Amino acid sequence: MSGEIIFLGTGPTEPVRMPGRREERTNSSIILRVDDITVLFDCTLNFTEQIDRERIAPESIEHVFISHGHLDAIGGLPQLMRKNKNFIIYASDATRRSILENFKSLKGIEFKIIEHGKPVKLNKIEITPFNVIHSEKFPTFGFRINTGGKIK
Ligand SMILES: [Zn+2]
Repeated sequence: MSGEIIFLGTGPTEPVRMPGRREERTNSSIILRVDDITVLFDCTLNFTEQIDRERIAPESIEHVFISHGHLDAIGGLPQLMRKNKNFIIYASDATRRSILENFKSLKGIEFKIIEHGKPVKLNKIEITPFNVIHSEKFPTFGFRINTGGKIK
């Protein structure tokens, strides 16, 4: 098994510039790759800049897990949609509603509704959503990731 985790961003809603550094910490987002499966966790307002920087082909992203309905977690979905129409969004029902309220262009995209404690299996990857406290209005998931062994 081969795999990698790429941190596309580790910052809050507004990009943060670190003293003495040129680059910014953009919205939090992760790419997980195991063998030929690519999973994106949150699709941020900085999505295009992030994947360009890391040279990730947008059409390689087939699975998109969304933690919650705030714009810094969903705001890049229309950007992804313009480059790739074949991805599945995994989100709570509340988050799905937030996405569709914000972005009518995403009506044709396939959603899979996920729930606290119920794992999703994608070949060797197992992703289990769990409730975290973040926002009263926007129920939020963290994700536990298990790949059944070490990634080399
Ligand atoms: Zn938030």
